[in-house]
Amino acid sequence: MEEVDVFIVGAGAAGLMAACTIVNSTVGSGLSVRVFERQEKAGSKILASGNGRCNLGHSGSLAGHYRGADPDFVLPVFKLVDEDTYAKIFRNLGVLLVEDEAGRLYPRTMRSDTVQTALLNASAAKVKVDYGIEVFDIKPANSQNDSFVIRFRSAEIAKKSKRAPKDNSEQIKDGQLRAKTVIIASGGKSQPQLSGHESGYTLAEGLGHSRTELYPVLVPLELEDAGRWKRSSGQRVRAEAYYLSRSGISSPPSAGEFLFTDYGVSGIAAMELAEAVVKDPSMLKGDLIFDLLPEMSEESLSDFILSQIKLHPDYSWEELLIGLLPQDILIILLRNLKAEAEIEKTKKGSISIARAMKNLSRPVRGTRGFKFAQLTAGGISTDEVNPETMESKICPRLFLCGEILDVNGDTGGYNLRWAFSSAYVAGKSAAAACNQVSV
Ligand SMILES: Cc1cc2nc3c(=O)[nH]c(=O)nc-3n(C[C@H](O)[C@H](O)[C@H](O)COP(=O)(O)OP(=O)(O)OC[C@H]3O[C@@H](n4cnc5c(N)ncnc54)[C@H](O)[C@@H]3O)c2cc1C
Repeated sequence: MEEVDVFIVGAGAAGLMAACTIVNSTVGSGLSVRVFERQEKAGSKILASGNGRCNLGHSGSLAGHYRGADPDFVLPVFKLVDEDTYAKIFRNLGVLLVEDEAGRLYPRTMRSDTVQTALLNASAAKVKVDYGIEVFDIKPANSQNDSFVIRFRSAEIAKKSKRAPKDNSEQIKDGQLRAKTVIIASGGKSQPQLSGHESGYTLAEGLGHSRTELYPVLVPLELEDAGRWKRSSGQRVRAEAYYLSRSGISSPPSAGEFLFTDYGVSGIAAMELAEAVVKDPSMLKGDLIFDLLPEMSEESLSDFILSQIKLHPDYSWEELLIGLLPQDILIILLRNLKAEAEIEKTKKGSISIARAMKNLSRPVRGTRGFKFAQLTAGGISTDEVNPETMESKICPRLFLCGEILDVNGDTGGYNLRWAFSSAYVAGKSAAAACNQVSV
C-alpha cells in the first residue's frame, strides 16, 4: 500500500493552503504530501468568490465577525496568522494584496484565478493532487494509532453507485493508501454545483467527531408576497432591513443594496439576514422590515414629500415621488397603500407615505437553501479541536481546517480569511507532527 506523510482531503482554499504551507516550510519540505479532490479542478469556490475577484480578507480587527458555538475559537488562529503574517503568506506565493475603500482585501489583479493558480504553482513540484477522487473512509491503521488507512474511489463511480439499483453488477473500484497524518479540508455542503459536499463531515464523524446542525447562510430569501411584487423583479434599492420573528425578536439590521427578485430578495445585504431566518425556531416565519430611505428621518422625508406637493400640485403620487425609489418599487408600494385607503395630498398623506417607505414589512417564506447559499453554518464541533494547532483533541495527528468546522464569518472576506489561516496553522502543525517536533 502506498504510504505518505500527509494526506489532505480536498483541494479547495484550505486544502491547497495547507499543502503549500507544508512543502514550503523548513520542517515540511522533505515530506510526501498527497491531495485527493472530488471535483475535476482545484479551488472551485476560490474561483467563484467575490464575483470572480476573490475577496480573501478584511483589514482591522477580526474579533466579532465570526459565529458558531464558540465565536472566540478563531482568535488563537488569528493571533498566529495576524494581518502582517497573512499578507506575507500571500506575498511569498507571489500574490500582492490590495484593500478597497471598505477594507476588503483582494489580490492586486482583482482575479480569483490568480490566487488559485499561485497556490497550485507553489505546491506543484512537491505535492501530488488527484482529481475526480472521493475519499469515503478514514480509519486508524492499527491499535497504536500511528497512522491512518484512507479509502477512496472515483467520484464519478461514487455518483453512479448512488443512482444504480442495488443489483447493478458494476463494482465500485476503490483504492487505499496509508498516511502518518491527515488533514480534512473538505469544506461545507453549500452550492453542490460548485463543490459543496457532505462526505467530509461523515469522515470526521467516523473518527469520533460530532457536528452541530448545518444551516444554509449567506443565501437569498424567499418572500410570501413575491407574486404581488413581481413587477419590481430586477430592481435594486439601497436600504436597511432587519428580520422580525413572530415572537418579536429582531435581528441586527443589515444595510446595503437589496435586489428584489421574482422569488423574494437577494444581494449581500439580504443574504446577511438569512442566518436570523434559518435560526428562527418558529414554524411560522416572521417579516423583513425595510427602511427604504435610511439616510432620511421619517420627519424629513414627510417634509420633503409635502414640499413636492406644494411645488407640483397637479402631479400624481408617482410623479411626486419619482426621485425617491426605483419606479416599479414605488408603484407597488403606492398600490398597496391605496388598497388600504385613499391617500390625500396633505401633511397627513405625506406622513403615511414616509412611514410606509421607512417601515415596509414583507413576510418571509424561508431561504433558498444550500443550493444557493455561499456558506454552511454549523459543522464539526470546535471544542473537539485545538485552535493553537488545528489538531483533533479526539484523534491524534488528524487536523481539520476551513469551513468544515463550526465557524461562519461575515461577508467581506472573513470566510476565506478563516479557511486560509486555519489551513496555514494546520499545515505547520501537521508537518511538525510528522517530524515529531513542536511548531
Ligand atoms: C459563490 C461563492 C462566493 C463566495 N465568495 C466569498 C468571498 O468573496 N469571500 C470569502 O471570504 N468567502 C467567500 N465564499 C466562501 C468561501 O469560498 C468558503 O468559505 C471557502 O472556500 C471554504 O474553504 P474550504 O477549503 O474549507 O472549502 P472549499 O473551498 O469548499 O474546498 C473543499 C474542497 O474539498 C473537496 N471535497 C469535499 N469532500 C471531499 C471528499 N470526500 N473527497 C475529496 N474531496 C472532497 C471539494 O470538492 C472542495 O473542492 C464564497 C462562497 C461561494 C459559494
